[in-house]
Amino acid sequence: MSTAQGRLRIAIQKSGRLADRSLDLIRDAGLKWVKGHNELLYRVENYPIDLIRVRDDDIPTFVADGVCDLGIVGENVLEEGRNGGPNAEVVMPLGFGRCTLKLATLPGIDWQGPQSLQGQRIATSYPNILKRYLAGEGVKADVVLMRGAVEVAPRMKLATGICDLVSTGATLEANGLVARDTVFESQAVLIKSPTPPEAELADLLDSIMERMSGVIASSGAKYVMMNAPRSALDDIIAILPGAGSPTIMPLAGRDDAVALHAVCQEAVFWETLEKLKAVGASAILVLPIEKMM
Ligand code: ATP
Ligand code: ZN
Repeated sequence: MSTAQGRLRIAIQKSGRLADRSLDLIRDAGLKWVKGHNELLYRVENYPIDLIRVRDDDIPTFVADGVCDLGIVGENVLEEGRNGGPNAEVVMPLGFGRCTLKLATLPGIDWQGPQSLQGQRIATSYPNILKRYLAGEGVKADVVLMRGAVEVAPRMKLATGICDLVSTGATLEANGLVARDTVFESQAVLIKSPTPPEAELADLLDSIMERMSGVIASSGAKYVMMNAPRSALDDIIAILPGAGSPTIMPLAGRDDAVALHAVCQEAVFWETLEKLKAVGASAILVLPIEKMM
């Protein structure tokens, strides 16, 4: 199977933790789809694109093999599936689906770092990532694959430690486990096939990637406007988070003050506004940015 049917394909998780946010990103990039009867495929109506809905574990292979042109998947799944064959390329991190692969044990252990698991058994759903990590740490341990319910292994005396995904830590706590060292930090990423699409779809593929990058860039960004004394401009620029070079405009009838407009790449908190006011800024407005390119 390839994209020879004149349509691009984007692989997304059918249901689960990444499913809604993946569709949000695709919608914000301007794609509209019809759900129809086909559970596997959503047809985009305003571009020649199909959304292929599969288990997240299958996404890296589909993209690496050129069955899909793009995919949205957790770095943990991508990294676990890496092998000597052709791999999907990471286009960009997407800022959602953050989680951490951590070692965890029962509390009774005198933890001295991963070497405390030397010669022990560790249960995980991520044997490849764990083995690479242990090799890097010089630890020899017996890695056993468990597809689910990894967190029960220590209590059942199946393993001394586990290596599992953690976001809030509630599951570990509920199972009486203590989180130890971090093995891998993950978030959702956009991946791209090493196989280029048909020539007439290449521009569309570039445009979709650029739009997604714009959606991600604008998601935390704000447009900030204020009036300010000329003398305070250096202070104001230092206070504004990730503002680059702001636009400065004259104010009618005022030589001592200007209007300042800036795109702030990071969150603008109340504390930031209070600091701006303290150095003399007034009429401060913070506006959301819908699109950015
Ligand atoms: P599928 O049916 O598609 O195989 P799954 O059960 O493997 O789904 P989910 O639990 O939906 O996967 O998680 C999908 C991804 O979400 C994970 O691979 C990971 O990148 C991310 N994620 C974020 N937080 C967590 C968490 N607390 N636990 C597990 N995964 C998380
Ligand atoms: Zn999965």
